[in-house]
Amino acid sequence: MPSEPEIALGRVTPALRHESLFSERAANIKQSAVRDVFDLSLDPSLVSLAGGNPYLQSLPLDKLGAMASELIIEHGMTALQYGGGQGTPELRAQICEVMAEEGILDADPANIVVTTGSQSAQDVACKVFCDPGDTILCEDPTYVGALNTFEAYQARVEPIPTDEHGMIPAELAKRIAELRAAGATIKLLYTIPNFNNPSGITLCAERRPQIMEICREANILVLEDNPYGMLRYTGDPILPLRADYPDDVIYMGSFSKILAPGLRIGWALVPEHLQRRFYLASEAVTLCPPTFNQMLISEYLKHHDWRGQIASYRDLYAGRCAGMLDSLAEFMPESVSWTRPEGGFFVWVTLPEGIDTYPLLAKAIDAGVVFIPGAAFSPADTPSNKLRLAFSAISADKIHEGVRRLAPVLREAIEA
Ligand code: PMP
Repeated sequence: MPSEPEIALGRVTPALRHESLFSERAANIKQSAVRDVFDLSLDPSLVSLAGGNPYLQSLPLDKLGAMASELIIEHGMTALQYGGGQGTPELRAQICEVMAEEGILDADPANIVVTTGSQSAQDVACKVFCDPGDTILCEDPTYVGALNTFEAYQARVEPIPTDEHGMIPAELAKRIAELRAAGATIKLLYTIPNFNNPSGITLCAERRPQIMEICREANILVLEDNPYGMLRYTGDPILPLRADYPDDVIYMGSFSKILAPGLRIGWALVPEHLQRRFYLASEAVTLCPPTFNQMLISEYLKHHDWRGQIASYRDLYAGRCAGMLDSLAEFMPESVSWTRPEGGFFVWVTLPEGIDTYPLLAKAIDAGVVFIPGAAFSPADTPSNKLRLAFSAISADKIHEGVRRLAPVLREAIEA
């Protein structure tokens, strides 16, 4: 509160007056480290290996433009109107077809809630399940946007150790027991089983039922976040957790990586017994997901070879992923290692123990390249000897140049 002398001196700015009005929750809302670095991606003198943007140049823009214009001219009264809070029935039915591609064959459109990107599905899940102080388990490392959401809801976030096959079931079981013994209320396990952001790692098939059984036994609901699942470049597809555990998983999907993130359309497939609360909480935030965008996606799915489009994205990103891995092999010092993703957008690079990659970012920018320091992907920004490189948005040539610029910065830190 401003003091009386301050008021008398007329020094009370609106910012000062309003400071005391913030909720406790607002103190936990922070700017994403990825956002900070994102703006640098626009500087043409820098090679950005930071932002995991999808490459949109191969979209059929003429076709989308014609569909958009026809929608407004022929169906404007519906397309520009409010719609149902759960999403249009047509798109929900089509989303079931999209999920069937990944092996979810029993989805009922009645249990789908269309959301403003899958980001808002994460938010709704927290709203429905988390009281301040409740615990959410996640992979170590995990998606920074999810961490920001969980922290904004004042959840305690507990990262579970992972290896090259994903979350380690024994570590999960151990941590649940320890947390419960310490009085924690564990509500959710958030997981990105395919091509994790940031690590690129996939949870292997053997571990999937193990993780699910541990969670079911402990009465922990699983949030399965799968925006990259259809972008597999090598290896055999693995069934989503949701496929075999329909009552225990909220599955989150998105059109952001298989079509366009600017449309901001994602979804949650929610177990029937949870669906109503989830949908009402989502409706309370947005009233309804954007009608026009949903109808445009419906038209696209109806009239365009979307499976072919995804296949062409797969080829494109597979080439860039290979370019990234080759460039790392060419330039990186011997003591540096990295993951070999089978899909998705990211490679996770590990430096020798004890080197914090955060201070290296400024040096990398001086050298003309941008990355995301590993600290961004764990709660409390714990110092990390890792960093994330994205290969989705730029050509293999640029990736090569970016890695070439990055290597001496890392070498200098290692040799210091
Ligand atoms: N989950 C993960 C793992 C992501 O990487 C992203 C976006 N980068 C999202 C969710 C959010 O996606 P959307 O655009 O659907 O909100």
